[in-house]
Amino acid sequence: DLETALQALVRGAMTLLHGKHGLARIFELSSDESRVMVFVEAYADGKLDVRWHPAGHVLTGTFGGQLRDGGPPILVEDVWELDQARYPAYAAMRRQEMRSSVNVPIDAGGQRIGSLHVDHPQPRFFGPAELAAAGALAAQAGAAIERARVESARKEAQRRVESQARELAARDAEAVALKELDRLKDEFIRTISHELRTPLTVVHGYAQQLHARAHDLDPSTVYRFASTLKASSTRLKRLVEDLLHYARIEGGELAVREEVVDVGALLERIADEYSDEPGGERVVCRVSGGAGRLTVCADPEKVRIAVGNLVENALKYAPQGEIVLRAFRCSASRLDPSDPSDRAGEVVRVEVEDRGPGIPVREQPRIWERFYRGGAVAGLNVVPGSGIGLAVVKALVEAQRGRVGFTPRAHGSLFWLELPVTG
Ligand code: ADP
Repeated sequence: DLETALQALVRGAMTLLHGKHGLARIFELSSDESRVMVFVEAYADGKLDVRWHPAGHVLTGTFGGQLRDGGPPILVEDVWELDQARYPAYAAMRRQEMRSSVNVPIDAGGQRIGSLHVDHPQPRFFGPAELAAAGALAAQAGAAIERARVESARKEAQRRVESQARELAARDAEAVALKELDRLKDEFIRTISHELRTPLTVVHGYAQQLHARAHDLDPSTVYRFASTLKASSTRLKRLVEDLLHYARIEGGELAVREEVVDVGALLERIADEYSDEPGGERVVCRVSGGAGRLTVCADPEKVRIAVGNLVENALKYAPQGEIVLRAFRCSASRLDPSDPSDRAGEVVRVEVEDRGPGIPVREQPRIWERFYRGGAVAGLNVVPGSGIGLAVVKALVEAQRGRVGFTPRAHGSLFWLELPVTG
């Protein structure tokens, strides 16, 4: 680096010329050229003094000033013989008791960047040979500084190119993600229209039948019609509810009204709600903990929708086997042990476990994304769905200071949510 190069230069010059005082300096090149960026001063006892951005200026007309202004090397045989009137630093020079000196420029890349001075108390101590030797040393140092400058400029350019490449790659990734989101959104619109139309067609058809044949339908047929109407309208209601919540979440308008909620009782109600739906008899509720042990401070309606979505997914994706709804008290799962804000503490954990096909490992990280549907169902009308169910679950639970997760099971899936306990 610059400082080391200057130290080597001034030391080398002192040794070679047997000087008693030496100074090498680099001018401030970018701003005020009359200032010095750095100098190294060497004394007869071997001491070195380095100063960056020292106060003061290089006076015009002094040997340093003449060199700075592009002048040639200067050999001073005896300071005392100088014309006091023409040499501005005459008095200072006499005070230092130095009488003979060599003063040579340091050039780098065709530019005058600094100067080297070696002094001796004896008059006529230096001659043209010493001036030439000092000049050669300064030229060498200039070349080294120039090489270092070129190298650091090259490194800087390389750094800039690399950072630009990184930025481009990040933008590329962003563009790809946006495109994917766009594609998923298109698919979502297609799916959702289908999702809305199917139950609506059923509702409309059965309502028409009821209307036309109201008087001659026997009670068991009316009951059958009513059941179908109920199932389809429930499906519609849930879908619209999800859509509304999704819209509120996206618009940042989700209002959470927290109260003390008994999670055990809530799960019983949810299981009950599904009991007369197809497959609903598979939903079983296992709540552990005495009365009041499973209370959380939450928005009961939002917990109901979140758990309901998980149950519905289990009913959709696991056509057979029990669907177990569990609630118990435990310490919060630490999702990221290295994150100190990953809060520990008591929670009520709700689990929904099914015995379905599970979720492929590569899909697991994406299931909570809005519009994302698994490969087995995306774009096909095999399993109803919109791809926003889990995104809604996550947003609803997180809005209540809770967290959600998925744990693969040997046979099936286990989705969970945790809500902080009260008190
Ligand atoms: P949707 O069910 O409308 O497709 P979700 O956001 O609820 O959207 O779920 C995202 C995806 O996660 C689903 O498309 C499916 O691939 C997968 N998934 C969710 N729950 C289950 C489950 N219980 N078993 C298997 N796969 C599931």
